[in-house]
Amino acid sequence: MLVISGPSGSGKSTLVKRLLQDTRVVFSISCTTRPPRPGELDGRDYHFLTLEDFRARVERNAFIEWAEVYGNLYGTPREPIERALAEGKVYLLEIDVQGALKLKSLGVEATYVFISPPDLATLRARLEGRGTDKPEAVERRMSKARDEMNEAPRYDHIVINRDLEAALAEVRRLAGLSDSTGETGA
Ligand code: ADP
Ligand code: 5GP
Repeated sequence: MLVISGPSGSGKSTLVKRLLQDTRVVFSISCTTRPPRPGELDGRDYHFLTLEDFRARVERNAFIEWAEVYGNLYGTPREPIERALAEGKVYLLEIDVQGALKLKSLGVEATYVFISPPDLATLRARLEGRGTDKPEAVERRMSKARDEMNEAPRYDHIVINRDLEAALAEVRRLAGLSDSTGETGA
């Protein structure tokens, strides 16, 4: 299992998209109460749930962890993990810092990787450049990023995403995907 987290704008989605080109990697589809963004598909990007449905799953112990992030609830379904691991796949979780550290403190066996921007000025430039957040939201993400950066030493590995290809190669190495057998080149 490979757990990836880091501040918003550090490049997690970009790295995950590239990692998923490898057929040995399976993406953990989280459940969330936030509405889909344009282009997102239910069952591919997330399972989009009502608050009621999400709470019922919490009651059923259906999540290995769940957390509130920016006012919405997010949870990692327990059920698909065993299957993927039994098939010898790398099961990839892209979750927030609270969720990752919760799993680590529970003793869940995984490689915990913190994706860090080179520095906060670069992070701000990337958040602004991405163009998906209003100025207030950028400020909120920056202030949260400062706190999240303090948690980085608790991870197994910190990967600084300066050059994308170098960061990708490092994450692949940490996940045991360095040889190219599973790459589709897609
Ligand atoms: P996250 O998923 O962590 O919020 P994204 O993957 O959306 O972050 O990346 C934030 C922005 O930074 C995107 O516009 C992305 O294209 C850009 N980006 C990611 N990695 C790099 C990099 N190594 N160099 C320059 N820009 C990058
Ligand atoms: P977004 O709404 O932008 O897709 O995600 C917001 C944040 O929620 C990101 O930091 C993402 O990593 C995190 N996240 C997504 N799924 C989960 C999950 O299942 N559990 C936790 N704890 N965080 C998640």
